[in-house]
Amino acid sequence: MHVAYIGLGANLGDARAALAAALLALAALPGTRVLRQSSLYRSAPIESSGPDYLNAVAALDTGLGPHELLHALQAIERDHGRERPYRNAPRTLDLDLLLHDSLTLETPELTLPHPRLHQRAFVLLPLAELAPQLQIPGRGRVAELLAQVRDQPIEKVEP
Ligand code: AMP
Repeated sequence: MHVAYIGLGANLGDARAALAAALLALAALPGTRVLRQSSLYRSAPIESSGPDYLNAVAALDTGLGPHELLHALQAIERDHGRERPYRNAPRTLDLDLLLHDSLTLETPELTLPHPRLHQRAFVLLPLAELAPQLQIPGRGRVAELLAQVRDQPIEKVEP
């Protein structure tokens, strides 16, 4: 089994409902359990447009390999009607494979750890809630990386 971290984001329509549905879909993947999920956070779009994003991170225990898991995430995104008229267009649901154990990988389809994870407060803050001491291969500990993106506006959404 593997521990994988998934970044969830949505900024169109009912973003909160999209994230709740995505968490259920993650829990329903074969051989997969949701170990923990973070609070929800609200952040302004970066390299994108439209309304504020809602973001969260989930930790999975899964038998799926990294490519299998990526394809499963893409299928969940498709099921939620994500359309991609242009790069970084607003999206109903975005699922990123942040980490798969401590694997490092660079293929045309999949880069691990996720290439922008260490630069984004909307990933690091929810990830720090689950695993502040987690070591991101090649980058450092989550809590240290978070300290470097403190200038990015983000707020916790009260439940
Ligand atoms: P995005 O529009 O940001 O969701 O990017 C999706 C594209 O990034 C897809 O073509 C994926 O194959 C590629 N990709 C590379 N590494 C990852 C990763 N760790 N998680 C999700 N997508 C990835």
